[in-house]
Amino acid sequence: DGLSKDIADLVKRRHSTFGASSVLFYEQPLQMVRAEGVFMYDSTGRRYLDVYNNVPSVGHCHPRVVEAISKQAATLNTNTRYLYDIVHTYAERLLATFPDGLSNVVFTCTGSESNDLALRLAKIWTGGAGFIVTETAYHGNTAAVMEISPSSTKSRKVPAHVRTVPAPDLYSDPVEDIGAKFASDIAAAIEDLENNGVKFAGLIVDSIFSSDGIHADPPGFLKAAVDLVHKSGGVFIADEVQPGFGRTGRQMWGFQRHGVIPDIVTMGKPMGNGFPMGGVVTRPEILTPFCEETGYFNTFGGNPVAAAAGLAVLDVIEDEKLMHNAEEVGSYFRTGLRELSNRFPSIGDVRGAGLFTGVEFSTPDHQPDTAMATYVINAMKERGVLIGAAGSHGNTLKVRPPLCFARADADLFFEAMESVLAAR
Ligand code: PMP
Repeated sequence: DGLSKDIADLVKRRHSTFGASSVLFYEQPLQMVRAEGVFMYDSTGRRYLDVYNNVPSVGHCHPRVVEAISKQAATLNTNTRYLYDIVHTYAERLLATFPDGLSNVVFTCTGSESNDLALRLAKIWTGGAGFIVTETAYHGNTAAVMEISPSSTKSRKVPAHVRTVPAPDLYSDPVEDIGAKFASDIAAAIEDLENNGVKFAGLIVDSIFSSDGIHADPPGFLKAAVDLVHKSGGVFIADEVQPGFGRTGRQMWGFQRHGVIPDIVTMGKPMGNGFPMGGVVTRPEILTPFCEETGYFNTFGGNPVAAAAGLAVLDVIEDEKLMHNAEEVGSYFRTGLRELSNRFPSIGDVRGAGLFTGVEFSTPDHQPDTAMATYVINAMKERGVLIGAAGSHGNTLKVRPPLCFARADADLFFEAMESVLAAR
């Protein structure tokens, strides 16, 4: 209904080939044809401000990344069983961004593969099989990783070796010490696993809790949980697929805001600015026994083109001072949104770090207002802004623009948001 003939034809072709697996944004789907910086352009030539995309993290089609990929693709690309200078240069550059001790990297192609490998490493290192995740976590799509991704099934049920804990959500649970609360929930989950004969292997969290609705503050709240995990013989796996590569501002990695050192770090999405690549960073003493027992081979993970893309991403983050930009524009952005929330009380909370912001819609009595968030997402699209939702009720906007997002882009967002809220 209301779709142009071309779009309606594409939707039909998609349904007849993808079948039930087809997932599209918006009732009136968009056909995208090109993108640049923070903007995407559809088949009618209309421009959209993209604030929902941490894949082209240093900017859509960044010329330096595009050039690095095309040059390497035109020179050599094959499997990963030979020596390639660029791959080792990249590995060294990447590892230099981590705390001492986290000195080995295994390259993969996706965040899911990275988390799958992390689970395998944790199991062999600890001898355990029990994992703890947050209630609305998403960590990926392999058979094993789905089991620690409650948000990916309708029932949100997890198997017997998995326990969930509530996300550290200060807005709906305004306790004095959210870190202590989170740690005590984890303590109870460990006890429950062990009472049921499952040895604890580890805690895995996305350190900005994106699918749980974005919970970033106060910095440091993860420390109590990580200390407890270590005391209980488990590993802490930091899933940096969302917060990593400078998104949270100031630091390269989300876990650094919390002053903790993970045992295993997993990466994906922004790593290649759209080139599919992922990775796992860990300590040699965790990786070595794993490789002695099972080994790991990935045909495409860490191929020369991926390394070229990854290297260009690191260069751009540094040369364009994108972490500083994330910090600076992110704080300008949240200040502007808080001003809007004074005039539009349906905005219950504005929170986040760097260029990762959650805007929670709630009713006057603090209940999740999913209908409002859904209205805003669709109305913002009509005004040329692409945005999505997160959280167990889908009532929190997940605002995650490319890291080159400028104050002027934030102003465009405010203008659209103001007119959308005023029109409701
Ligand atoms: N971890 C987190 C926190 C994610 O958000 C995602 C993807 N949304 C993944 C892992 C899985 O990454 P991929 O889709 O690249 O397999």
